[in-house]
Amino acid sequence: MDKKILVTRSSMPPLEEYVDEIRELWDTAWLTNSGAKHREFEKKLSGYTGIPYVSLFVNGHQALENMIAAYNLKGEAITTPFTFVSTTHAIAKNGLKPVFCDINEENYTIDVSKIESLITKDTCAIVPVHVYGNLCDDAAIEKIAAEHGLKVIYDAAHAFGVFKNGESALGYGDASMCSFHATKAFHSIEGGAAFMHSAKIKEILEAMKNFGMTSQESVGYISGNAKMNEFQAAMGICSLRHFKDEVLKRKKNAERYYANLANIDGIKLCIPPSDVDSNYAYMPALFEGYFMTRDEVVERLAHHNIFARKYFFPATNDLNCYKDIASCQADTPTAKRISENIVTLPLYADLTLDDVDRICGIITEK
Ligand SMILES: *Cc1c(COP(=O)(O)O)cnc(C)c1O
Repeated sequence: MDKKILVTRSSMPPLEEYVDEIRELWDTAWLTNSGAKHREFEKKLSGYTGIPYVSLFVNGHQALENMIAAYNLKGEAITTPFTFVSTTHAIAKNGLKPVFCDINEENYTIDVSKIESLITKDTCAIVPVHVYGNLCDDAAIEKIAAEHGLKVIYDAAHAFGVFKNGESALGYGDASMCSFHATKAFHSIEGGAAFMHSAKIKEILEAMKNFGMTSQESVGYISGNAKMNEFQAAMGICSLRHFKDEVLKRKKNAERYYANLANIDGIKLCIPPSDVDSNYAYMPALFEGYFMTRDEVVERLAHHNIFARKYFFPATNDLNCYKDIASCQADTPTAKRISENIVTLPLYADLTLDDVDRICGIITEK
């Protein structure tokens, strides 16, 4: 049987390094509630991104849900259906109506030419997604938001370590959410963070992730528990030390995919533009007008013990929990088409160039 290859494999720091990192927790017995590791990780993330305020969460979803809550928004939020369902859930669980905007053909992020026609008197926010780490047109979004008085909260779950013209993409809009889930390019086992420029929003988030407590005897918000613990923060600190090397390894593999597949008729890859330093988080490949359909490609790879994933299919507005809600029934033909024809191929730091060649060979064999 061929070696089993999954779509991703978590980057692991050396075991001894992690053990050293958590050793002092046995002295302090301080395991959560903004301990030393938590504060250190937060500070290091601020240093790495250059963004002044960071608030750590138990996972990315809770970060996004609490961020939307922190702005105390009511009404409708414009977002895209070509994403992980978490984006839409975070909006809906805040009592907001998700309004779906279609995506563009180039990098599958929000089609900025279609946002304004969706704005109503009830619109309060835009929640765009840097899907696969492909960056949204932040300048166009910023302009529309300023003209209509809307908040912009990015789902940047895929965009940790993506820089444009040397600046972290996590600085766009009012705030950005990152996921540090084990399957993401950078992880803290589970984990997430809000990146923002506002000290006030940071203060609200710190309270919201701890039952809304603003001090030991005062509770200012109705909120749950979404704190990152010390073991997660310790893993995040270790991961950050190795992140640049991990991205370089990912880049080598990504470039091998580009060399093998980018010029083949019927296959479209997402190659980062020259002003962007990518994190090479995913390897999306669109199969249109190819001799196999997307589903046939996935099946053929599985036959060889290689497990690509249909990220993101179905589009969110086709999911059972949303498809019958009137406000969710939007005409998003590009999102639908892309979601039906795209697959993310295996890409991770420890994948070898030989693995990439073999995967590409299976895809292109007539
Ligand atoms: C992973 C992911 C999330 C949720 O992050 P978790 O850390 O798993 O909670 C949200 N949005 C997108 C686009 C994601 O891929």
